[in-house]
Amino acid sequence: MTKERLQKVIAQAGIASRRAAEKLIMAGKVRVNGNVVTELGTKVTTADLIQVNGRAIEQQKKDYYLFYKPRGVISAVSDNKGRKVVTDYFSAVKERIYPIGRLDYDTSGILLLTNDGDLANHLMHPRFKIEKTYLAKVEGIPSNEELKKLSRGVLIDGKKTSPAKVKKFSINLSKQTSLWLLTIHEGRNHQVKKMFAAIGHPVIKLKRQNYSFLDLAGLMPGQYRQLSHQEVEQLK
Ligand code: URA
Repeated sequence: MTKERLQKVIAQAGIASRRAAEKLIMAGKVRVNGNVVTELGTKVTTADLIQVNGRAIEQQKKDYYLFYKPRGVISAVSDNKGRKVVTDYFSAVKERIYPIGRLDYDTSGILLLTNDGDLANHLMHPRFKIEKTYLAKVEGIPSNEELKKLSRGVLIDGKKTSPAKVKKFSINLSKQTSLWLLTIHEGRNHQVKKMFAAIGHPVIKLKRQNYSFLDLAGLMPGQYRQLSHQEVEQLK
């Protein structure tokens, strides 16, 4: 059974932020199995009864999924235009999960879904610089000079992108298209499309191949698998 820090469990239950949960603990407002706990490092499991100000909190079961999002699906839990959304693929899952970040409607690839708001916030925070690798099919064949610009950073929406890694995947001379692996750690809106557009090579097709150390091995578009305990720990 996974052991978690008490303040984290309280935050996950939606009672308070982690910081506020720490204050509650230090103020002696939290009991674990009936005993007041003021130690911040205390670890608990789902088997423990946790009370905040005398009221038991509901410990949510955490689920983590790795999904191969197909093209033509919205990265959301509902859509007011009635288009297909990623959670339509998870009808067998009872927990209310949602995507961690987004992929464009016409982008395929790796997308994580969870009901762990704490981990979702952590992974989406720019400070943690989670690397994501995209396979982009673009118009034309960028020159070395253009590729250097891409890796050093280009201006999009008035702000320079952070340095990126670019690797050649393949070139189709007769069709005048090329495939590139681009690794970035930011997550700005339409970032990869805007980056290639900025060097004059618009994206024709986009797929996210990697999210941190995770990839799509063994999955077809529309399929998902649960993350293992080790994978979840490695993401934290
Ligand atoms: N960059 C894009 O342009 N689109 C995506 O879906 C993801 C990254």
